[in-house]
Amino acid sequence: MAEIKKKRMATTSLAGCFGCHMSLLDIDERLIDLLQYVEFDRSPLNDLKVFTHRCDIGFVEGGCCNEENVHTLREFRKNCDVLVAVGQCAIMGGLPVMRNAIMHSDDPLKECLEEAYIDSPYTRNETQGIPSDPVLPLLLDKVYACYEVVKIDYQIPGCPPSGDVLFQTLTALILGKPEDLPGELIRYD
Ligand code: SF4
Repeated sequence: MAEIKKKRMATTSLAGCFGCHMSLLDIDERLIDLLQYVEFDRSPLNDLKVFTHRCDIGFVEGGCCNEENVHTLREFRKNCDVLVAVGQCAIMGGLPVMRNAIMHSDDPLKECLEEAYIDSPYTRNETQGIPSDPVLPLLLDKVYACYEVVKIDYQIPGCPPSGDVLFQTLTALILGKPEDLPGELIRYD
């Protein structure tokens, strides 16, 4: 990859567990080679919280549970040429999407919060209060996968995708040939 132009890359975690970012670190010593071709912009990996430049590649972990997730995802779409949904949470909501199954009442969000903070047999909540501080991001009516909010260019399945998969994906994107990613890498059956 000696004459490849260096790409600028951003990553973020929406409603995710950071496991997909841990997989990025699982690229291990190959990260050092990659850094010849990739410069990180906004990312939890360097603690940069705002875009400093437009990016070639954006990796998004997690789906959208609240309005802050939506805002961040739209910012990534606006600032990244190629946007990649990394992992099951980004692709279809992952574990948080289980709350979408709570649709028994006219107000499923209220029902979900009451189940989480008051009614669940595993909850100890002496005040019976539900967090409602205005600084908390507003919860959405349900959990949305990234593609339901913005256009996504590629989806990398797995929970999390392995470091090998992310390495090969990044290499393919750097080379401008993401369609060359071997299918067997992302098969789980
Ligand atoms: Fe975590 Fe798995 Fe979701 Fe990645 S896909 S953020 S590892 S739960």
